[in-house]
Amino acid sequence: MHILLVGAGLSCAVIGRTLAEAGHRITIMEARDHVAGNCHTVRDADTGVMVHVYGPHIFHTDDEEVWDYVNRYETFLPYKNRVKTTSKGQVFSLPVNLHTINQFYGKTLRPDEARAFIEEQADTSITDPQTFEEQALRFVGPDLYEAFFKGYTIKQWGMSPRDLPASILKRLPVRFNYDDNYFFHRFQGMPENGYTAMVERILDHPAITVHLNTAFTRAQADDYDHVFYSGPLDGFFDYELGRLGYRTLDFERFTYEGDYQGCAVMNYGEEDVPFTRITEHKHFAPWEEHEGSVCYREFSRACGPDDIPYYPIRQVKEKALLAEYEALVEKVGNVTFVGRLGTYRYLDMDVTIREALDVARAYLGKAGAGEAV
Ligand code: UDP
Repeated sequence: MHILLVGAGLSCAVIGRTLAEAGHRITIMEARDHVAGNCHTVRDADTGVMVHVYGPHIFHTDDEEVWDYVNRYETFLPYKNRVKTTSKGQVFSLPVNLHTINQFYGKTLRPDEARAFIEEQADTSITDPQTFEEQALRFVGPDLYEAFFKGYTIKQWGMSPRDLPASILKRLPVRFNYDDNYFFHRFQGMPENGYTAMVERILDHPAITVHLNTAFTRAQADDYDHVFYSGPLDGFFDYELGRLGYRTLDFERFTYEGDYQGCAVMNYGEEDVPFTRITEHKHFAPWEEHEGSVCYREFSRACGPDDIPYYPIRQVKEKALLAEYEALVEKVGNVTFVGRLGTYRYLDMDVTIREALDVARAYLGKAGAGEAV
C-alpha cells in the first residue's frame, strides 16, 4: 500500500514508522521546513543552547511502552520540571505545595496542619465544582486563587475563569508536602539531542520519504491508498463551516550573558504583567553548560487565520462546531484524522505517541502488512 501522511510531527512520525516496518510505502508532506511539529528544537548558533522553538516541551509519562519507545530513538536524560511563579513581589514554588503555602501565609505548618488550614480557606459550600474558578475556590481558597491562578488564567485563555471548565485546573495538583515536581508521572526526562533529532531518527527508514515545504491539498488524497492527516481538522475542509477557535502564542526572544532567572520556567501570576511566563531554555538541559542564555517571554492571544494554532479552546461554541466537522469526517473515505490539530484536542506528547501507536496498529489489523520494500 502507498500511504500519505500529512504532517511530520510526533503523530505521523510514529504512524509512519510503524507502517513502514510492516512493509508499507510512506510519503510524508510537511508544510514547514522542518520535522517534529511544535516540539521542534534547534541548537542556537551563538550560545549553543538547545532552544524549544515553539515553546517548552517536557516529556513525562506513566506509559512504559511509550517511554521505551522514545528511548529507543533518543537518549533521555533526567529532568524534573520545577516551576516558579512571581506574584505579589515574591517568588513562590509551583505547583502549590507546602513550601508555597507556608511562604504565602508566613507559617511553618506541617502537612496535616496545612491541609486543615487550606480547608478553612476553601469554599466548602461548592460541592461539585464546574468552572475553573469554582474548582480553585473549593480546593485552595480565594487568596491562593487570586495570587497564582486568576490573573495567569485570564492571560492564558483570554476569558474569565468563571467561563472555563474545572478540568483545566485539574491538570495541576495541590500538594501538602515539599514535592515541587510539576508532574507526577513515573518517567520524566529531556532528549539529549533535542526532539527534532529524535523525530528524524523515527523517520529514518528506507520506506519513508519526507517532503518538507510541501503543502497538502485535499485532492491529493485520491492518489493514495490511505491518508493519515495531522493538520488542522477545519483546514482539511477548507474551513467551510468556519474556524475552530485556538489560542496562539507569541514569543519575545531575548538573550542574556549569564543566568537570567536561575530556572527553566518562571510564571507570572498577576494580570498586570502582560506575559504569562518566561522560559530560559538552557535550564531544560541541566547537564549542559553554557555562558550565554536564550529566553522566551510568552504571550497568549486569540489565534488569527495566519497564526500558529496552539491550544484548542473547546468551549461550548467550539465543541458544537467540532461536532459538525466530525460529521463531515464520517463521510470522508480513506482519511484518518490524528493528533492535536487533526482531532482538535490538547494532547501531551506521551498521549500523542500512545494514540499514534494504537491508530497504526488498528490500521494494520484491518489492512494487514504491505509488500516488503
Ligand atoms: N495555571 C495558572 N497559573 C499557573 C500555571 C497554570 O493559573 O501559574 C492554569 C492555567 O489556566 C493553565 C492551567 O492552569 O492553562 C494548566 O496549567 P499547565 O501548566 O498544565 O498549562 P499548559 O501546559 O497547558 O500550558
